[in-house]
Amino acid sequence: MGNIISFDENVFVDDDSLSLSNGLTDVLIDFLLLAGSELAESENQKMITVFLAEKQQTKIGIGNVGFDIITMPWQIHTFDTDKAFLLKTISYARTISLQQSTWKILKYKPNLEHLMYALDGFEKLINRMSISDVNENNIKEWINEAEKDDPIYCGFPKCSKHGIMLSMFGCKFCNDGL
Ligand SMILES: [Zn+2]
Repeated sequence: MGNIISFDENVFVDDDSLSLSNGLTDVLIDFLLLAGSELAESENQKMITVFLAEKQQTKIGIGNVGFDIITMPWQIHTFDTDKAFLLKTISYARTISLQQSTWKILKYKPNLEHLMYALDGFEKLINRMSISDVNENNIKEWINEAEKDDPIYCGFPKCSKHGIMLSMFGCKFCNDGL
């Protein structure tokens, strides 16, 4: 059991898919969420962060939060800045993983070796993404599935306690009991 983050739906043995334990998936999402919530500026960068904020195993099931990189809310006209945003988010996640103030928010200190493995693998997948891989039907579908009270329609609110962006499930850290 675990979660697989893969480039697309074609997953082969020994390809670049990131196969993570349920626990490590949570740690990766926690750090991407903390970093992304702080760095996201444009509407599309906020949508990408909300997409990650939806990956809550307490809400959609343990081992149910794997996804394909190409199904993230990419858009052609913002692609370059969004890809740069994600790479910056990954790099910032590495920085804050070393900070006690972050461990305090999360109430745990990550296993850094495992977290770096997950961030490195995620970074490789994001680096592989090119503008020719963008299928805007994915973002349209994702937006269409959002209810009227979804954070993407409500100004992208953040949790007043944790400062991270909310998804339709609310704050991941509140839901995790932090
Ligand atoms: Zn919260």
